[in-house]
Amino acid sequence: MLERRTKIVATLGPATDPAGILDGLIAAGVDCMRLNCSHGTPDELSRRARDARAAAARAGRPLALLFDLQGPKLRLSAATPVRKVERGERVVFVGAGSPTAAADGSVVVDFPDFAVLATERSELVIGDGVPRFAVEHVGPGEVVARALTPGAMSPRKGINVTYARPNLPAITDKDAADLALAAEEGADFVALSFVRSAADVEDLRDRLRALGSPARTIAKIEKVEAYSRLDEILEVADGVMVARGDYGVEAGVARVPLMQKDTIFRAVQHGKLVITATQMLESMIHAPEPTRAEAADVANAVIDGTSAVMLSAETGVGEYPVEAVRAMAEIARVAEEAPEIHGRARGQAGDTPAGLVAHAAVQLAEALGAAALVVPTSTGGGARTCSKYRRRRPVIALAHELHVANQLAVEWGVYPTSIDVAGSVEELVEAALLTARDYAHLPSGSQVVITAGRRTGTPGATSLIMVRELP
Ligand code: PEP
Repeated sequence: MLERRTKIVATLGPATDPAGILDGLIAAGVDCMRLNCSHGTPDELSRRARDARAAAARAGRPLALLFDLQGPKLRLSAATPVRKVERGERVVFVGAGSPTAAADGSVVVDFPDFAVLATERSELVIGDGVPRFAVEHVGPGEVVARALTPGAMSPRKGINVTYARPNLPAITDKDAADLALAAEEGADFVALSFVRSAADVEDLRDRLRALGSPARTIAKIEKVEAYSRLDEILEVADGVMVARGDYGVEAGVARVPLMQKDTIFRAVQHGKLVITATQMLESMIHAPEPTRAEAADVANAVIDGTSAVMLSAETGVGEYPVEAVRAMAEIARVAEEAPEIHGRARGQAGDTPAGLVAHAAVQLAEALGAAALVVPTSTGGGARTCSKYRRRRPVIALAHELHVANQLAVEWGVYPTSIDVAGSVEELVEAALLTARDYAHLPSGSQVVITAGRRTGTPGATSLIMVRELP
């Protein structure tokens, strides 16, 4: 159980619906199941959320449930004629409902105020990246753009606008409905697509709290604006996703690798969750084995210190969902033998007493070669702080609430389970040692370091470190 530190997120979909597949995914190593709100009806999302919880209960282990909101995704209208665009061609884009649209052959985008979004600095990118246009002129009700690359246009293709004015809502009406569903289904995390600033994440967090949801927030870094404001976003979000699909569309695929490495590095420094996503084992949608290049891609994210690696279509609609998780788990496990993980990618010690105590506990466990760090925790904060140093000792987190245990399932090197809050610190320590031994199957007599708060069940009160042998 304590073999792999990097966690695995798997997207649910039609391929995971048949009986037994979710159990297979968990047995193969999934730590978090993702529901992509861009696909599936509300009923399907609810059913999959409940099926995931039931499978986790059967496996007897915490599992995080992540709802991924579609965000303000723009598309070409359904009436867009299929046509090829040549390099250098001039195309006029207008918003839905424009009176001139059909007559003059301009391309309609399904957002009425499209023309106020684009600036003369913007690029318009269709589908997976081609054609790409440079905006030449923004006039009343229209955007005139010239094709930088050739490609095809067709109905309902996505269109990304770089450096757009902030006229699109961060959370659309569809997102608000999906958010209510996520709260109802007890989501542990909610990810927001096309985040542009910290304010978008604050909006998400405020709405979650208004719905009574304790879900943690994930900002998807897929717009150039978001990446240019990464530090401000990391201040407010609980985590980020390196959303390589849309970032590759906006910035061009050549810019994805450096953005990925830098985002992982900075998220770890901030002690925030970071999920590396999209096309990690893409060929496994149709093949039982990954390519060498895919193995190297997963391994590089792991060596850079990503908290988790994600599967999208590989599990959602692929032919080999369980094999994909198994392959990812094995590649991650072997990549973690690289010594760099435990050096380069490392969070900074904070300056709060609780942060410094956690840092000292991690160092002590490392120096002793302890079997584990045992961390009773009320908010999960103590376990997350221990995780950010990316050291080898496993962190066995004992959460007082089930949703905290579920949230910790996706943190690097953290193995969470639940524990009742005992009356005194002494009772908590004894209960924690017993629970950790049984949950992680550690032999009696193993040396561990335990760190906890003086007042049981009090957030941020970590102040105690003990070296103990397991009973
Ligand atoms: C991405 O764009 O890489 C991503 C993770 O988002 P989605 O799967 O919603 O496209």
